[in-house]
Amino acid sequence: MAADRDYYGILGVSRDASPEDIKKAYRRLALQYHPDRNPGDKAAEEQFKKISEAYEVLSDPDKRRRYDQFGPAAFGAGPGPAGGYGGGFGGIDLEEALRTFMGAFGGSGSIFDDFFGGAASEREESHRGADLRFDLEIDFEEAVLGSRRQLELPILQPCAECGGSGAERGSRRETCRQCGGRGTVISSQGFFQVRRTCPQCQGTGETLARPCRVCRGEGRVKSRRTIELRIPPGVETGSRLRLTGHGEAGFRGGSPGDLYVVLHVRPHEVFQRHGDDIVCEVPVPFTVAALGGEIEVPTIHGPAKLKLPPGTEDGRVFRLRGQGVVDRRNGVEGDALIRVRLQVPRRLTQRQRRAMEELASLLSDEDYPEIADFHRRVGRYYDRKAAIER
Ligand SMILES: [Zn+2]
Ligand SMILES: [Zn+2]
Repeated sequence: MAADRDYYGILGVSRDASPEDIKKAYRRLALQYHPDRNPGDKAAEEQFKKISEAYEVLSDPDKRRRYDQFGPAAFGAGPGPAGGYGGGFGGIDLEEALRTFMGAFGGSGSIFDDFFGGAASEREESHRGADLRFDLEIDFEEAVLGSRRQLELPILQPCAECGGSGAERGSRRETCRQCGGRGTVISSQGFFQVRRTCPQCQGTGETLARPCRVCRGEGRVKSRRTIELRIPPGVETGSRLRLTGHGEAGFRGGSPGDLYVVLHVRPHEVFQRHGDDIVCEVPVPFTVAALGGEIEVPTIHGPAKLKLPPGTEDGRVFRLRGQGVVDRRNGVEGDALIRVRLQVPRRLTQRQRRAMEELASLLSDEDYPEIADFHRRVGRYYDRKAAIER
């Protein structure tokens, strides 16, 4: 059998290849030798025709059976106008090869899907409305406890006049002449071929006979839209809420983009956030700290009781489990961290003063562990200093 009629050989598949294998092989080779990819290359064009001819036969169960049984002879005597499809199958012209190709992979899609990473989806992308980012300042309470907000934003929305089509009522859309409806055009840049969005139709593959007067053919207009925003509890500065489909409307009915709301949490006058924990500095009278006792402390969920042991020192932190941020998304419960700040009275009455003086006379440095320790360390320093100077 002549090499150029060995259809299995041409597609590089075995005789028992499945229809899928055949299609796959054809797709790979046809893309490789497609005339659009090899402009002016006659050899590539010939190869493309052969590949298409082989596929034409092997993809058809009936033709494949006849070919398996009788070989290429089943399809007539060879190339030439007499061959044709009806009586025989002898050679194939470029137009037929291209038709075969389009038939196998959908008429409208660009053949460059594979080379450029999915032109079809990219074409869809070119119609898609832009994603929008909106920065929103929220209160600490809203971030921690969650809230609902109504946003009113000026956003491109589908044009009501033309229903988003961009075409004046009653007028038609026409296949774009520049790109033939593909939405993309190929141009050469030196050795490279570059595919870009068709400038004529902006990737839609269609042009408008009469563009809509309201949106000038865009299919979208800018207007204020009210958006209900639900802020889940536990968000922080930098948290990003995605509202799918709430971005800009697409070009001429393309899918809308998404809206991203980026949150910025205002600082709070009582609480500070540390991850899922909430820190609160609580001023406490030094007498209470010394004597010990129960105090009321604030948490984000409400007041809580905290028992201070006698001799509580300044800066000590107490942890109230589960009183912090409750992040429902991951089930994490933060804690409240209460940092005690000892307070000394600024002014004393005569009586208070006398009582304080009596107290002072009853206390020595040894009653304050840190003071005693401090004095010991200072003492050691003076000893060493004296030893050096001796
Ligand atoms: Zn319109
Ligand atoms: Zn176009």
